[in-house]
Amino acid sequence: MGDFYERIVDVEVTAQEAGPLAERMVAWMVTEGLITRELSSDGVYSLTVDEGYVPGPNWAQGVADSSDPTWLPGPVAVIIGRDYHVGGQGADEAEYAVCPRCQTKTVIINYPEEFEANEEVWQPFKDGIAAWKEMGEGSAPCSTCGASVSVTEWQWEPNFAVGALAFDFWGWPPLSTTFCATFSQQLGHHRTVEHMGKF
Ligand SMILES: [Zn+2]
Repeated sequence: MGDFYERIVDVEVTAQEAGPLAERMVAWMVTEGLITRELSSDGVYSLTVDEGYVPGPNWAQGVADSSDPTWLPGPVAVIIGRDYHVGGQGADEAEYAVCPRCQTKTVIINYPEEFEANEEVWQPFKDGIAAWKEMGEGSAPCSTCGASVSVTEWQWEPNFAVGALAFDFWGWPPLSTTFCATFSQQLGHHRTVEHMGKF
C-alpha cells in the first residue's frame, strides 16, 4: 500500500528557516513516537528526496482510523527547499489561481472540456514560480486588475501549493484532523496545505 501519500506543505516558512524547522519537526515526531530516526527508501517517491523516516511505535496517534491491522504506514519524507507541490495525479500545473487583490479566478486548465493547461495562460505563472524557486521572489501579473502578485500570494487551487517545506506521509491511513492541527501548531502556526495523491 505504498504508492500513495498524504502531504502537508508549510506555505509560510522561508527557505532560510525551512532546514532548522524541518529538524525541529523531525525531533518532535521522534519524541512523540510517530517516526524513528531510521531512514528507508521503501515506497518513497517524493519530489527531491528518496528516503523517509520509518514510522515509530505510536504512528497510530497521527491517523484517524488505525483499525485495519493490515494497513501499516510507510516512511515520512521531508522535502526542504522552495518548490511547487501538486497533489492528485497527472497534471503538473495548477487548475486555476485566484488573484488576492481583485478575487478574479484565472483558469489554467479548463476542466472538464480540456485536460491540459492553456500554455499561454500558464507561462507567466510558470516563469514566476521558476524565479521564486531560484531567487526567493517571483510574481505573475493578474490579467484582470493588472497587479503583479507574488507566487506565494496567489490563491492556488487546493491541489497546488508553493512552499519551502513539505512532509510526505507515504502509505499512511488518512491523518486525523487533530494531528494536522497539532502539526500546524508545531510549525509555528504556519498556514499549511494538505494534499493526497498517488505516485
Ligand atoms: Zn487581480
